[in-house]
Amino acid sequence: MIYGISSAALLLLLFAVAVYRRRGKKRTVRGNVTSMEEHRKRKRAAAEAPETKQRAAKCSYCRKTVKRLTFYADENGSVIGVCPSCKGRALDRDLMPL
Ligand SMILES: [Zn+2]
Repeated sequence: MIYGISSAALLLLLFAVAVYRRRGKKRTVRGNVTSMEEHRKRKRAAAEAPETKQRAAKCSYCRKTVKRLTFYADENGSVIGVCPSCKGRALDRDLMPL
């Protein structure tokens, strides 16, 4: 019985400490927390952006922006977009069209 009460009290205490800590963190290191999150978001966006941009318009070989790209999987398994004038180079490399 005493054990039950004390463990409940301990849980409550832990909970209170956790809440207190979280609150304290938010208040004191708020700028840090948000900038970290933003940094992560930005990093992720930066990681995704080149590929999506590339998919949208840019040739992986000549970096020209073209309306229509043909997509191939290269030796590393990554997708590259190739403009019509560079298509021959992709075919020369025996890349798999997607
Ligand atoms: Zn090209």
